[in-house]
Amino acid sequence: MEARRRGDTEAALDALWAKHHSGLGRLFSARALDELALRASFDLDLLVPERIKQRIQPGTIPDCERCDDICCAGLENLVSLRLSDIASLIDLERTDLIQRKKPRFPESLLAARPHLQELTHSELWRTLPVLRQIGESHICAALSTELRCTLHPRWPLSCERFPYTLKAARREVVWGLRCPSQTSSSENVERSQEMFEATVDAYNGRVRDAVLLKHARRDLDELGVGQFLIGPKEDPFEDAAPQLGRLPVMP
Ligand code: SF4
Ligand code: SF4
Repeated sequence: MEARRRGDTEAALDALWAKHHSGLGRLFSARALDELALRASFDLDLLVPERIKQRIQPGTIPDCERCDDICCAGLENLVSLRLSDIASLIDLERTDLIQRKKPRFPESLLAARPHLQELTHSELWRTLPVLRQIGESHICAALSTELRCTLHPRWPLSCERFPYTLKAARREVVWGLRCPSQTSSSENVERSQEMFEATVDAYNGRVRDAVLLKHARRDLDELGVGQFLIGPKEDPFEDAAPQLGRLPVMP
């Protein structure tokens, strides 16, 4: 697999995280009250892969060649971007793919999709942008007409690990039910390990985003990332089009 290179904005974001990484440092900073408020609403414990149970057999990856689904399309498959995804899109000069407005999913859909409900009720979902979709079928704007991801290998973290899914409370990684097709082979062991680690990284990315949004909002503006974030007084939502079509089972 082609290596994922890091650009200048991603590197600057890493440096910002290095500055705010220490929970003790944040507690003894001038923003201690913000840190306490954040801790009251968000689990800031970072996970390490060695302490996460891998419930997927090594060498198991999605079998996209034999799959008749297109998981890169559909309103319900909208990609929520992390700060590192935004930084990467800036470095790739693909900020045209970033969309600040996001759909207000119907309550009936959210009731049937607990995972989606959990996501959309979070402050991170409200604040962070999404990847633009196009057309009535809501196809990801990064998908080529040959059905290839034009961002690969610097694709969003949630795409990199899909369909591997972290069950944080149980500290385990499982196969997400949204993906119906898989293949298993010893040749894929390295790739499956990468996906496992990407799954843990994606979770830790949420923690990192929560901390940086609370402690380094002005620095994010200076990096050029802040312009894509939703301000506390802004309404980031718009009503979702009724084009929900085929709805996958959420993990
Ligand atoms: S649903 Fe799974 S197997 Fe199908 S295209 Fe998506 S990742 Fe590949
Ligand atoms: S970024 Fe790539 S992998 Fe992710 S939804 Fe878009 S086309 Fe699919």
